[in-house]
Amino acid sequence: MPTVKYPKNRWAWVEVDLNAIRKNTRAFKAQIERGTKMMCAVKADAYGHGAVECAKTMHSAGADQFAVATVDEGIELRKGGVTQPILMLNESPLEGIDDLLAYDIMPAIYTTEFAYAYGERAVALDKVGKYHLAVDTGMTRIGVLPEDAVEFRHSIDFHRGLECAGTFTHFATADVIGDWDFKQQARRFADTVGALRQAGFETGLVHCDNTPGTLLHPEFHYDMCRVGIGLYGLQAAETTAPRIALTPAMSVRARVTRVINPAVGEGVGYGLTYRVPKPNIQIATVPVGYADGLSRVLSNNMDVICNGTRARQVGRICMDQFMFAVDVNSIRAYHPARSVERGDVVTIIGRDGDEEITADEMAARRNTINYEVVCNFSQRLDRVFV
Ligand SMILES: *Cc1c(COP(=O)(O)O)cnc(C)c1O
Repeated sequence: MPTVKYPKNRWAWVEVDLNAIRKNTRAFKAQIERGTKMMCAVKADAYGHGAVECAKTMHSAGADQFAVATVDEGIELRKGGVTQPILMLNESPLEGIDDLLAYDIMPAIYTTEFAYAYGERAVALDKVGKYHLAVDTGMTRIGVLPEDAVEFRHSIDFHRGLECAGTFTHFATADVIGDWDFKQQARRFADTVGALRQAGFETGLVHCDNTPGTLLHPEFHYDMCRVGIGLYGLQAAETTAPRIALTPAMSVRARVTRVINPAVGEGVGYGLTYRVPKPNIQIATVPVGYADGLSRVLSNNMDVICNGTRARQVGRICMDQFMFAVDVNSIRAYHPARSVERGDVVTIIGRDGDEEITADEMAARRNTINYEVVCNFSQRLDRVFV
């Protein structure tokens, strides 16, 4: 039986195992040479795991810096007491610049418009605006193009309000072993860093490896690795699994709010897409729905674990609730376990007894990746740290 530590007002919650976060962080730290820094990606509320708690745990396990996607994510870390350097992996609207400077959040920079505005405000506030130069080496997302990097630095570096604290790129195919495009991105990045130094520019910390890059391409660790998904105990791809043992940190749990034994032929949920096929089927209700990030695409296509036994989810997943079916006969036949009762703990992701439902299993059923599954569990579910 999983721990039943749940929020006061709701029988549904996301459980986050901070020991797992600590262990995973140490495991990555062990893959990185001494002297190479580790930047932990805690964007999107630490991939749904709770940004402030995770960042503090990661720091205690050796994280040097943090990466966020938005100004507000950076502010949340600062207000939560995180004092390490924070990089926002993008530019914000110009209106966000005052907050970046007030909360000491470094933006990634790749347009002169943003760079000038950031530098101007920094000077006006008697500060220095640190930034990391983003280079687009082939992902075609953000960054200056390799051939424009030196010119870009020439055009902004006269500004005394700006200080380049880093130069980075992001790989599109770091998880593919022996990939030609990866090698091309890596080569373009190395050439760009070389050209910037040749032209006399300070590059700051040079970094490019994400989770799969860190594990599969240690030759490109440079000054810092930017690790995300692996810290939460999830593999970035099948190719990284042999390289590191990880412990998933997130479980999603709830308690059964009602159980009945409907007659054969009764339907379940909107559209009555499931009908009770035989006698002695229990239908149990769980107070979690698609508004909590449990995708409706999973309707009639996922399992839950209850009392250490897997059961099929049935009927359409509603906004706030879903139902699952337990074949009471088969439980009695194969397990000493009792049938389901109101208040029983249901595991939607995580382990209960010998059974486990992983974010990867749910991702496969949804035709997406584990990243999206964990990010989707919404703020309506309290994060309970264990
Ligand atoms: C999210 C992100 C990372 C971390 O990626 P993972 O695959 O989770 O390790 C690193 N760098 C950038 C630019 C990112 O956007």
